[in-house]
Amino acid sequence: MLIVMEVTANTTECKAVLEQLTSLQLEAYPSITDDRSIIVVKENDISTEITEQIRSLSGVHSILSISRSYHLAAREYQSADTIVRVGQVDIGGGQPIVIAGPCAVEGEDELLQTAQAVAKAGGHILRAGAYKPRTSPYSFRGLGEEGLKLLALAREMTGMPFVTEVLDTRDVDKVASYADALQIGARNMQNAALLEEAGQAGKPIILKRGLAATIEEWLLAAEYILATGNHQVILCERGVRTWEPLTRNTLDLAAVALVKRTCHLPILVDPSHGTGKWYLVQPLALAGIVAGADGIMIEVHHDPDYALCDGPQSLTPENFACLVEHLQFLPKNQTQFAVSTTSASVPSVI
Ligand code: PEP
Ligand code: MN
Repeated sequence: MLIVMEVTANTTECKAVLEQLTSLQLEAYPSITDDRSIIVVKENDISTEITEQIRSLSGVHSILSISRSYHLAAREYQSADTIVRVGQVDIGGGQPIVIAGPCAVEGEDELLQTAQAVAKAGGHILRAGAYKPRTSPYSFRGLGEEGLKLLALAREMTGMPFVTEVLDTRDVDKVASYADALQIGARNMQNAALLEEAGQAGKPIILKRGLAATIEEWLLAAEYILATGNHQVILCERGVRTWEPLTRNTLDLAAVALVKRTCHLPILVDPSHGTGKWYLVQPLALAGIVAGADGIMIEVHHDPDYALCDGPQSLTPENFACLVEHLQFLPKNQTQFAVSTTSASVPSVI
């Protein structure tokens, strides 16, 4: 259950509600957003008598009963699509956006070349990892802060904001001081400490789906960030591991359409990690948008054969430009149809 406080509610009123809940043996915690406080109550089945008692307290705006295990991420909490702004780019509820760049920052020349190609082709946001989560500790693990500085340089040169992964709670402040948005990768989707620390940094966060996470687990991971009061969360479907050996992962497009229905947060698809094969990236990117995604995240490298990370799934700048061109040919009514599936969910105010 969610207790939405009035925009004008003060700290004393919020404290009084929390105290009342505690005295009723109800576990609750506050989530303070930029414009108002919301009190999340763990229990959902609360008697009418108690609900009325809480509703009568000063500063309470409304009480929402949420039927799902995630509360703040649910459409029942917010029926309208959330729009998250990264730099000057709005993600959600409008035109699909394109995030692209190399898997990792490898060096100045490589990054600037690729960033310029991404901008020229019509990409909106640059991506690249300065801290790389690799399967083997002996693989290239990124340039660290030097990589962040190069990303800042690429932003200056191209005008594109950038998103980059943060792997460790100890690096959150540093990464947030450079980046326009933080990425939490598949391997860290359920790292609660990192989710909370990143949430508190106040930057938009792209939360990738875990390698073997159910949709509910993924949305509950988003809930960790939302509960910190940071509501700028963007989900990213990047494929889950299945028994299929011919693709790196299985991109779950049903998850995209389902999430659009049950959750108000914007969602991206990453067909690069979702397939592991450059020649599958374009069809799956287009399919992702038709399924309702608010944008795509694509790996691009000026010379994929020599990439230090994820070359086989990286597009050349030419193939990337071709993909962006194809986005405009998507039938408009199909994207609208996908988005309109959300209207079936009605908020339940009690
Ligand atoms: C990446 O975006 O380069 C990455 C490591 O992604 P994921 O966490 O989805 O594997
Ligand atoms: Mn990668």
